[in-house]
Amino acid sequence: MSEAVPDPILYCSKIVRRFHDAERELHVLRGADLAIWPGQSVALIAPSGSGKSTLLQIAGLLEKPDSGEVYINAQGTVELDDDARTRLRRLAIGFVYQSHHLLPEFTALENVMLPQLIRGLGKSEAGKRGSELLSYLGLGERLTHRPSELSGGEQQRVAIARAVANGPSLLLADEPTGNLDPKTSGHVFETLMTLVRVTGLAAIVATHNLELAARMDRRVTIADGLVVELD
Ligand code: ADP
Ligand code: MG
Repeated sequence: MSEAVPDPILYCSKIVRRFHDAERELHVLRGADLAIWPGQSVALIAPSGSGKSTLLQIAGLLEKPDSGEVYINAQGTVELDDDARTRLRRLAIGFVYQSHHLLPEFTALENVMLPQLIRGLGKSEAGKRGSELLSYLGLGERLTHRPSELSGGEQQRVAIARAVANGPSLLLADEPTGNLDPKTSGHVFETLMTLVRVTGLAAIVATHNLELAARMDRRVTIADGLVVELD
């Protein structure tokens, strides 16, 4: 007998998103579907302006679609109120962006502690978990450095540590290596993939780097407002 297929951690169903400016309507997503399962990595490869960031913002409950539904662990989210969406986002979802968005006046460790403190963890526990995570990502010697004292690759790895500090089940990364040179990109990317392997996290990574995308489990693109599987 075959085993029951588990629920996807994320299922974006028939997502529609339009933007208006003075002259015209921009129909960015036209019924896009995307599902991703625990432990899976998906590369989102599509030209600039095709809707990658829009889709990630909607998948991450930062924006609402005009229509369609976003299921997190089989729970619909569109009808939830803002508080419930925020709680779910903090619990289940981590974000990494092209620029690190670390707080400049805080150390690497403090930046990773912050989301845990916001969630209600005590300082010593948040510190312990934060330093373990940073050490695991090769930043054990950088705990007390401020972002300006770190290299671009190190900053991005701190941002990854911060994104997974609360143990999310879904990581959404929007061109996380877009500002890095190829060698550093490879290193930061490996960090992401190691986390996916070790924690069973699911990750969607928007990227223009085909070499890195080739090392992920699936590749998808956005064409005419729909998500299309690439291989
Ligand atoms: P990508 O991340 O693939 O480069 P985006 O999702 O950022 O694409 O944008 C898709 C299209 O939607 C672009 O043409 C962009 O200008 C437009 N767009 C995105 N956000 C907004 C917004 N808040 N208001 C108006 N247009 C937007
Ligand atoms: Mg974008």
